[in-house]
Amino acid sequence: MARCLIGCGSNQGARREQLDRAIELLGVMPGITMSAVSRHRETRPVGGPPDQAPFLNGACLVETELGPHELLGTLAAVENTLHRDRSERWGPRTVDLDLLLYDELVIDDEVVDGAALTVPHPRMTTRRFVLEPAVEIAPDLPHPLAGCTLRDLLDNISQAHLHVAVVGVPGCGAAEVAGAIADATLARLVHSPAPLPWRPGRGTATDWSAALQACAKPLRSDSWPDDPHGTVADYWLGTFPTAAEDCLTPTESARLAAEHALTTAETVLPHVAIFLRASPAALAERVAFRASHEHSSNLYAELGTAGRSGDFEAALSRLQGRLMTALRCRHRSTASSRPLSVIVVDADDLARAVDEAIAAVEAVA
Ligand code: ATP
Ligand code: CA
Ligand code: CA
Ligand code: CA
Repeated sequence: MARCLIGCGSNQGARREQLDRAIELLGVMPGITMSAVSRHRETRPVGGPPDQAPFLNGACLVETELGPHELLGTLAAVENTLHRDRSERWGPRTVDLDLLLYDELVIDDEVVDGAALTVPHPRMTTRRFVLEPAVEIAPDLPHPLAGCTLRDLLDNISQAHLHVAVVGVPGCGAAEVAGAIADATLARLVHSPAPLPWRPGRGTATDWSAALQACAKPLRSDSWPDDPHGTVADYWLGTFPTAAEDCLTPTESARLAAEHALTTAETVLPHVAIFLRASPAALAERVAFRASHEHSSNLYAELGTAGRSGDFEAALSRLQGRLMTALRCRHRSTASSRPLSVIVVDADDLARAVDEAIAAVEAVA
């Protein structure tokens, strides 16, 4: 038997009756036993078309013999019974049932019978409308990627001065996305004061140390302003030790990692990371574009030249994979500077990435 957390929402039709009916239908399905149901609460819509009606949101906990894809299919069947319209992304719905957690299983975008499944639900860790009802019924349930409980995740997004870091490899579009989040949420914007000195196969320890120190400065705890709308930075200090491995000797890398640990201890760590993930081709194209439009001394100009050597796309792609791992290691050590809420956004289309990122941050409120 697996223990699963399901999120429920409705903002069209008789919301309460439909949610009650959905939970009733789920409970009578073979192989599913309903073990807890939260209160429904009214929430404002996040993302999607403007002027949507407010939602009722809740959560329930089930025990099930069904596998994760079977359970997802069952959720879709219940939605269909209640006349769910899927014509518009994030559009109005009679009922929406999301599989949030399936025990401690991690599934990344696996397609079975045409339906893609990602578990834990990829957008749950910044959504107050998901975490509040979930914590009501299952506060101690672990989130396998965050390495903490649901209560910890809710506490994490309830900080008075939220720090959001937009993270990714050179060319991911972090500056644009962070700027757009700051505009939309009135957050203070911190722009990276020094580019990442990432030139695969070469570099000096002093360059890396200088860039790390420059980037740590605006994030220092002792000068962190009391900003009511929080802070969004277009970089994450954890990128430094990860990226330096491509440029420094193992000994120099280890020394930089130690310096990073000491330095970040004096900074305000991000609570939320928006990870911009792009295809190698999109990244290489964006770097080449910037190389041709910015000053020749610019990092992008150098990277653009490197790009013509052929290994560049592969190196960017490997760095992206290592950054993802650094953000998502399952067990969180106290020394770690890893944010608890990590939202992965597809950054091939930057306009869409901006909408996704803004929705992820607005869901915190
Ligand atoms: P969001 O996923 O951001 O809450 P939504 O609920 O409006 O948005 P839907 O249109 O209901 O999104 O679902 C889109 C697709 O997501 C579905 O086709 C479904 O197969 C897929 N999906 C992948 N993982 C999950 C999951 N854990 N729970 C529910 N649907 C999932
Ligand atoms: Ca049953
Ligand atoms: Ca949903
Ligand atoms: Ca859904």
